[in-house]
Amino acid sequence: MVLEVGSLPLLQDALAVLEESFQVMPEYTPEAVKPEVSQVLLEAATRMQDNYPYAHPLYAGQMLKPPHPVARLAYMMSLWINPNNHALDGGRASSALEKEAVTEIAAMFGWSEFLGHLCGGGTMANMEALWVAGRLHPGKKIVASKMAHYTHGRISEVLQLEFEAIATDARARMDMEALEAVLKRGEVGTVVVTLGTTGVGSVDPLPRVLELQKQYGFRIHVDSAYGGYFGLVDNLADEARAAYDLLDQVDSIVIDPHKHGLQPYGCGCVLFRDAGVGRFYQHDSPYTYFSSDELHLGEITLECSRAGASAVALWATQRLLPLQKGGEFAQGLGQGREAALRLYQQLKHDQQYLTVMAPELDIVIWAPKGESASEISRLSQQCFDEAEKRHLHLALFELSADVAAEYWDEQVEFDQPTVTCLRSTLMKPEHLQWLPQIKGILDQSMG
Ligand SMILES: *Cc1c(COP(=O)(O)O)cnc(C)c1O
Repeated sequence: MVLEVGSLPLLQDALAVLEESFQVMPEYTPEAVKPEVSQVLLEAATRMQDNYPYAHPLYAGQMLKPPHPVARLAYMMSLWINPNNHALDGGRASSALEKEAVTEIAAMFGWSEFLGHLCGGGTMANMEALWVAGRLHPGKKIVASKMAHYTHGRISEVLQLEFEAIATDARARMDMEALEAVLKRGEVGTVVVTLGTTGVGSVDPLPRVLELQKQYGFRIHVDSAYGGYFGLVDNLADEARAAYDLLDQVDSIVIDPHKHGLQPYGCGCVLFRDAGVGRFYQHDSPYTYFSSDELHLGEITLECSRAGASAVALWATQRLLPLQKGGEFAQGLGQGREAALRLYQQLKHDQQYLTVMAPELDIVIWAPKGESASEISRLSQQCFDEAEKRHLHLALFELSADVAAEYWDEQVEFDQPTVTCLRSTLMKPEHLQWLPQIKGILDQSMG
């Protein structure tokens, strides 16, 4: 069994409680659904069969993690209301839950005063952060590392801000000398620091960036869409730990509850340390909602309509699994990281494989041994296909030859600019228990 459905009866109980709130309304009975609904639904389910088994521990490829049952149920329950968190008229209860849930996320970063809200995802969240950055430093550059999410360049384009990519070191972290060289030219308004790059999970050296900030004066935006929750775990290496411990000093942070926070898609979050940036959002729309004097979420977001259900799901998840060090949620994340560390060690000591940087979070990159970059690339693709036939789902990753050479220089001929590697994102706590099966199938897939 891959799909958890045992929790479904809880949905009916929750809907019964929700129904109680409407007892004051005059009797009204919604139309019963037509029999065709069942037919169409089953047809849709059949079409949905064409999917990878994301919820199974042998799915260890891309950044896909099933939502927690409580998130799924709370989301579905609120769909019977379908609240819109743009404004209090559309989502009174869910707006309150959003504020509470976002306050808890901010507290995880050590922030008690802030401005923040949920949004569609990490791209939208980064867009808001860079939009504010541009308003504060008009005409100045945004810089991010070459391993930062590709959307930073594109968002800068949309915002008509100049963007420059900063070189990375052998561990895929922003290179501090390269950053300083760009800072010396004096045109940088904002440095985007990635804690948990999408490709390899590398953590930029935030402590060094903060030191440079004292000298050169720029804004720091942290993109931790993927890695934001890892400050809660107890098994980070010292350098990554130091970066997470300084998050209270940055200017804005992005985190994606729909990546590692057990949420359905459509749940990103942006936080600003200075609540004063709310002034940039001021608008004067003739449709403004007047039911409350309180600053509503639509006055501090770029998006208008968005799913209040996301907020309800997030609130319920954090209620069940508080964002605390040593808590169940933190332990689950820590298990994925432990799985990544063990897999890396096993691969490193196995003659069949070539490894690169040690995982900083829960993502591992490696490749089958080969004589040249082209041969390794071919073998990676072959192993990926063979593993999939055995129901182990991995991912592929194009590593630049410069980085690979730091690790394999003497053994490999670099006859092309990149080398295809295997990549595994061990996001689920179950990955730790399943590691022997994962490694076993991987070995079989090497042929
Ligand atoms: C996933 C990711 C994004 C983009 O977020 P979406 O939710 O997919 O829009 C941005 N930055 C990083 C580091 C990411 O991992």
